[in-house]
Amino acid sequence: MQFHDLAAQYARLKPEIDSAIANVISGGHYILGGEVTQLEEELAADTGRKYCITCGNGTDALVLALNAMGIGPGDAVFVPDFTYFASAGCICTVGARPVPVDISLKTFNICPNALEEAILRVKAEGKETPRAVIPVDLFGQPAAFDKLLPLCEKYGLDVLEDAAQGYGGSLNGKAACSFGRISATSFFPAKPLGCWGDGGAVFTDSEEEASLLRSLRANGRSEKDKYDNVRIGMNSRLDTLQATILIPKLHALRAWELDNLDCIADRYTAALKDAAVTPSVRTGARSSWAQYSILLKDSEQRNGLQAALKAKGIPSMIYYPRGMHKQTAFAGLRLKAEWYPRSEEACARILSLPMHPYLTQEDQDSVIHAVLDFLG
Ligand SMILES: *Cc1c(COP(=O)(O)O)cnc(C)c1O
Repeated sequence: MQFHDLAAQYARLKPEIDSAIANVISGGHYILGGEVTQLEEELAADTGRKYCITCGNGTDALVLALNAMGIGPGDAVFVPDFTYFASAGCICTVGARPVPVDISLKTFNICPNALEEAILRVKAEGKETPRAVIPVDLFGQPAAFDKLLPLCEKYGLDVLEDAAQGYGGSLNGKAACSFGRISATSFFPAKPLGCWGDGGAVFTDSEEEASLLRSLRANGRSEKDKYDNVRIGMNSRLDTLQATILIPKLHALRAWELDNLDCIADRYTAALKDAAVTPSVRTGARSSWAQYSILLKDSEQRNGLQAALKAKGIPSMIYYPRGMHKQTAFAGLRLKAEWYPRSEEACARILSLPMHPYLTQEDQDSVIHAVLDFLG
């Protein structure tokens, strides 16, 4: 059994993907190009944004967005403590200070109350200027933007949505990638919309910001004269091959993959809800199920379950074993574990089960039975 099954997806999409790849190879155009423009237009339409600018990966997408927002030294940027490192690392890349914030144990997303406390604390310290928040659409569920956006408005903070795991999800009819002034996503193979290598994208509704982002991904080049570089940027572009692979995958995500994921999540939840804490999707929200993560009683039970699953050939993952406050790279920030009780608890108790749109009923049942057997 696979945790994510990219081979099963390829088996379904093989004719389209093979002919698209053959066209790129015979076309001789390997970076950006017509297929990348087509993908950017489809992604913008799919998320209801005016502009999509693809780039090299999700980490670069976050850095490009922070640079376009003019965030740098002297600025404080708030981020959930419980996330993949890049959500917070990008803040240091641009010279600003990351301020990790505790999460909600129900959704694993940033807790709006804890965010407000952190904003007030940074203001009272008076060292850095609170500038932006990076809510993460963790495990596929959009962050609580209905509460976060008014809060950010109240304190004059920009919003950069980290939708690396969120593509395909929605909240009250609005798509993930549509909530930030700029939103960023990743096409790393295991994400809800993944390519066969590295890829990423940023989204904005501002024409000016879109052209700034296009310049920043191409070493700061001028739009008028490509050999005049008007700012310092980075080299972060999407390969034509990756774009050509993403187009049929985007269609499959919308046509059947999200529906399949919802069915599998419903089956898991119906079977497991009395034995463990199953994921809760907020009213009005749709998850793209980047992960299906349950909470066990404590770390001993979690580790025992993982070993029992492994013995039966069932893969599972611990996303994540440590929060941002426990990252060696952030030791200098002197963050205390007691500030992050819910993140600590998630790290100790969480386990992610096999989840992908091609997981057979037979495999779903094996997972369910193995979990129930262990938990008695
Ligand atoms: C994967 C991921 C990223 C980074 O994306 P890459 O394409 O791997 O650079 C950023 N944030 C979150 C929440 C992620 O899961």
